[in-house]
Amino acid sequence: MALSGIQIYKLLPQTNCKECNFPTCLAFAMKLAAKQVELADCPYVSEESSAKLSAASQPPVRPMAVKSNGYEVKAGSETVLFRHERTFVNRPGLFLRVYDSESAEAIKAKVKPADNYAVDYVGIDLGMSGFAVQADGGDASPGSAQRFAAAVKAVREVSHKPIILIAGPEAIKAGLAELAEGEVPLLCCATAENWEAMAALAKGAKAALAVEAETIDELVALTTKVKDAGVQDIVLSPTQRSLKGSLTASTMMRRLALKKNFRPLGFPIISFPGDWGDVSREVVAAAQAIGKYSGFIVMDHFSPETAYPLLVLRENIYTDPQKPIQVTPGVYEINDPGPDDPVLVTTNFSITYFSVANEVEGSGNKAWMLVADAEGMSVLTAWAAGKFDAEVIAKDVKRFGVADKVNAKRIVLPGHVAVLSGELEEELPDWEVKVGPREAVDLPGYMKSVLN
Ligand code: SF4
Repeated sequence: MALSGIQIYKLLPQTNCKECNFPTCLAFAMKLAAKQVELADCPYVSEESSAKLSAASQPPVRPMAVKSNGYEVKAGSETVLFRHERTFVNRPGLFLRVYDSESAEAIKAKVKPADNYAVDYVGIDLGMSGFAVQADGGDASPGSAQRFAAAVKAVREVSHKPIILIAGPEAIKAGLAELAEGEVPLLCCATAENWEAMAALAKGAKAALAVEAETIDELVALTTKVKDAGVQDIVLSPTQRSLKGSLTASTMMRRLALKKNFRPLGFPIISFPGDWGDVSREVVAAAQAIGKYSGFIVMDHFSPETAYPLLVLRENIYTDPQKPIQVTPGVYEINDPGPDDPVLVTTNFSITYFSVANEVEGSGNKAWMLVADAEGMSVLTAWAAGKFDAEVIAKDVKRFGVADKVNAKRIVLPGHVAVLSGELEEELPDWEVKVGPREAVDLPGYMKSVLN
């Protein structure tokens, strides 16, 4: 169980020596309970108290990572059920699955575009996280281990991203031999029948291990056995595949881990939307898995049209709702502007900035873009909050030396804050203040007809 601030205080020296930079031991205890400081910040905790506090301060969902060649997919460390309580921590990895029944050429043709896929979303690079290789036949079929190893090799010939190996112990053993030293793959899945062999493989390869079972009780039994066998990085794989079944299983497991601090379920979750077969159902299941509460998501189809909305959804859910994504205030050049080009004003909320910049850039128009410091809020929100007014804009015009860059002093306000034009004229008497359109999409037309 997580300890309260008072319980932690009872385990501290209670001398109020202030070396932890807090005025009292109680203040430090409260911060420790909120996981905002490290226990190591107090140098005087006894060994006995330290052991008790360390156990209690372990995150309820064990942090772990699947790694390869400079890439890493982290999972775990989550402390809340809902992102409005506190930020979700580790974005789930999206993995594209290939099968060992496919030819090496077919595997490469499937992996390569997904590996190369990279998209810039409001200044954040998005892409697929890695690949999963699944054995199509059983471990016992002739040549199964070699076939699986060949599939892993084919993936590795075109991608170095993290990998999930889905097979029985013999095939996984052969697949592991194709991986570079130092890689940390995820092995999938230990079951009631094969857990000893799978745990031995995971331990030997220092790999993470997913355990699979139909009921939560069976999963608890498996995680306990696998942990006792020396595997620390465990992933939960409930077999439910329906939307309702997987939502129920994931929610129950995560609730027990977070609310009851139930350690046997305090691990990341893997889900398999790819098992739906149908692309549209797969995307819906993946969207659900992003929201509730998967750390690893295995899909069978990749296309930019399906990957992009899932990756953006993931960003929206895993971005701290209390900290808007911001760009640095300043003057940005769009299409190499000259001294006769206009100055467009906007705020430093990332989505606002990129909407405006993309429209102007795509249209070929040249402009200076003054990104005012509006504490990361969008135009209307910042205006309503008093963070984006004529005074703020005029201050940033001076702070960033905008007048030195242009001869024609034309400044364009976003249409939503047309009301500021009079005040801005007073603040910037040398400037011609214009009111632009309300929506970024209308900027190219406006620039062509009004500014040229
Ligand atoms: S350093 Fe330790 S003993 Fe000193 S005030 Fe902080 S918590 Fe208390």
